[in-house]
Amino acid sequence: MTTAPWLVDVLRGAGLQVVEHDGWQQRGHGGFTSKRIDVVWHHDASAKGDSPGVPAYMLRNWNTAGAQLWVDRRGVWYVLAAGVAYHAGRTLPGKPGNRQSLGVETDHTTGEDWPPALLASLRLGTAAILARTGGELHMHKTICAPVGRKTDPDGLELAAERLAVRALRAGTHLQEDDMPLTDDDATLVARKVWQLAQPTPGVPLSEHTPLTLLAGARDDAGAAKGAVLALAKAIADDDAQAVAAAIPAGMAAAVVDELAKRLA
Ligand SMILES: [Zn+2]
Repeated sequence: MTTAPWLVDVLRGAGLQVVEHDGWQQRGHGGFTSKRIDVVWHHDASAKGDSPGVPAYMLRNWNTAGAQLWVDRRGVWYVLAAGVAYHAGRTLPGKPGNRQSLGVETDHTTGEDWPPALLASLRLGTAAILARTGGELHMHKTICAPVGRKTDPDGLELAAERLAVRALRAGTHLQEDDMPLTDDDATLVARKVWQLAQPTPGVPLSEHTPLTLLAGARDDAGAAKGAVLALAKAIADDDAQAVAAAIPAGMAAAVVDELAKRLA
């Protein structure tokens, strides 16, 4: 039976703070259908501000709802289960359901701010999990059936978050030690960013979200390439501040932090 007994190790390995709930390794409604497990983000619709009672609430309702993971507003991960949880409900054809995904609930509700500590931790933990499973990031609002049944997580956009998580995931192997960047690492990062900036065949430039994010402007491949070249030069120069400046605001602040830390 495929479960995720490695969750705590993987999250701590990424440098994240983790709270384990008793018996999490054994908890679950059976196993996943394959080792390629996706991640689905939710918000828990709890009252605005800190709602520390949510993990206990999910455990009380474990047989009908709840997710394997919950992240609080400081970015602490709570691990409730290694097996399947009923977090997704009915999902669209081709999208992951409960047996193909880990659910991550967040201490958030519609219209509430996303604390930077929560978002950075959510992205980094998700990158670490997906690096382990080979899966992809999804959101409850983009997989639920019928469409519109769910609106969570409110305020986050799938394409942008996938880009942020992918950038962190590309750097996962760089985070395993405290060695400075080698030339090979810098080349790898530059190549990854370059690939993200390339238009997808058959997709109009105006709809190419990574390009848009990199360029900070629609329909402007030149600006995107300029941004990538500036980033590549900053990495080659080993200049942390220039790296931070070269990454457009549309990309995750977490990426800037990670690269700047690594190059400092
Ligand atoms: Zn949800």
